[in-house]
Amino acid sequence: MHWHAAEQVYHWTIQLAKVPSISGTIGELEMADALVDLLLTIPYFQKHPQTVSKHPVPHDSMGRSVVTALLQGKGNSRKTVVLLSHYDVVGVEGFGRLQSDAFHPLKYTERLRNELLDTVEEGIRAQLVSGNWLFGRGVMDMKAGLAMQLSVLQYYTELAEFEGNLLLVATPDEETGSTGMFAAVSLLNQLKLIHDLSYEVCICSEANWSAYPGDEDRYLYTGSVGKLLPVVCGIGVETHVGEPLLGVNAGWMIGEVARRVELAPELVDEKDGEFGPAPTLLDLRVVKDAYNTQTPNFAYAMFNVLTVQHSPQEVLHILMDMVHQAADAVHQRISEQLTMASTRMNQPLPVSPVRPNVFSYHNLYQLGVERYGEPFVVHMEQVMHEIENTLPNPRQASVQLAQTLSTYFHELAPFYLLLFAPPYYPHIALNDSNPYERTLQDLAEQVHADALQADPGVRLKRFFPGLSDVSYCRIDDADQVFATLKENMPVLDRIYHIPVQEIAQLNLPTLNIGPYGKDAHKWTERLELKYSTQIAPQLLANAIKYVMDM
Ligand SMILES: [Zn+2]
Repeated sequence: MHWHAAEQVYHWTIQLAKVPSISGTIGELEMADALVDLLLTIPYFQKHPQTVSKHPVPHDSMGRSVVTALLQGKGNSRKTVVLLSHYDVVGVEGFGRLQSDAFHPLKYTERLRNELLDTVEEGIRAQLVSGNWLFGRGVMDMKAGLAMQLSVLQYYTELAEFEGNLLLVATPDEETGSTGMFAAVSLLNQLKLIHDLSYEVCICSEANWSAYPGDEDRYLYTGSVGKLLPVVCGIGVETHVGEPLLGVNAGWMIGEVARRVELAPELVDEKDGEFGPAPTLLDLRVVKDAYNTQTPNFAYAMFNVLTVQHSPQEVLHILMDMVHQAADAVHQRISEQLTMASTRMNQPLPVSPVRPNVFSYHNLYQLGVERYGEPFVVHMEQVMHEIENTLPNPRQASVQLAQTLSTYFHELAPFYLLLFAPPYYPHIALNDSNPYERTLQDLAEQVHADALQADPGVRLKRFFPGLSDVSYCRIDDADQVFATLKENMPVLDRIYHIPVQEIAQLNLPTLNIGPYGKDAHKWTERLELKYSTQIAPQLLANAIKYVMDM
């Protein structure tokens, strides 16, 4: 048989990209239908339409669904490879006046070439001229990966001697709350029982990109980074701006933390010589309703912290050390200013310089229980109920709970309060001490060797750096991780739910074999065509063959 992978992946990428499936919009619903329609153009699925399904995401107010397609090969092999993808994309606000063509890759690429060639940076200009790159929202993240999985799936449907099963699973909401994947996890557990499948591995086809500026290599991965979103609140002491030394500005307290945590080497996680990306600030705010000449007394910062080995507890400890350094800096500056003032006035220090305390949410909450007993617990629970009923975003809810908690400790100010906001993504890797997973590592190395034959610039690494739904295929030490996480993530199991038990039950090792691109989530998002359409699909097909031969 002839498998025209390159043309098919190219055309399907464009076709899929045309559906504007931005997370949280009606486009996701259209995308699920378009995907089902596309699957039903494949002769095998035409003949067996019952093997293609849309499964509603439970309790989803938008009515989104997970799309699955199951190919059962000849014979009775239980071996199954799960092909995982997401079909949503991020928004297009950054596309400026070209926004209307963001979902038409050919037209968009053409317009960039015609209208912006002289203004884009040199590397992009060369790529625009080369004709080997396709621009547009979603082409890289991850319509091309989905197109590639569909193409490989079709290839296997036509392979008469194929023994084994392929289960394609495409989710919505990957770019926002992963509710699609949470539904897919329990669905995978059900389908396993219904069809008597044995899941060997989950292969995701997220696109890969440069590991550092200037890097031109392509990557295969055997796992993914995890993520935590710590929040540091600063509770200051308000004062009139004319007497700043009599208070402590909460905005400044948080500024001292932000400059320490941004890109901090202490929070760059490492495993076996592989490093996760550095931490970076996602939000920083002074919470103050009106303008006046009073200094702010509540501010917070949220940090994106990616992990490859650190547990939530370890991240909390590292961060706490850094916040203590910030507290020292605050103390030192106030001391200097007070000393200067007393020297100028030739008087002893008017007040003694304060040093902010540092609390975790758990510690301060326990202090509240000790000091105020039942009424405190009841009030905090009331606030939680109000939040549950009004369903704000889980990050705002976390800050609101921290702010409420802090009001009980007015007299302890200034102090820092640390907690975690959702989401939480476990980091995921092959387990070296498990013989089966060592075989998967060998398999990944074989795929890598195949890749090198076609392209010397391909590397095999452990951790996909971009965060994805594969994180929810397994959780190591689930009980322990969640016990510690729960203490300091107040909205966990309240308005933010991770199906921990279902994930632990699924416990699926993963690989990532995907296309190659640049600038995911930017207006310059683009897909490199040669590796993505000619080489990567073949690697995915090989990987499936090796699993079935194992
Ligand atoms: Zn993605």
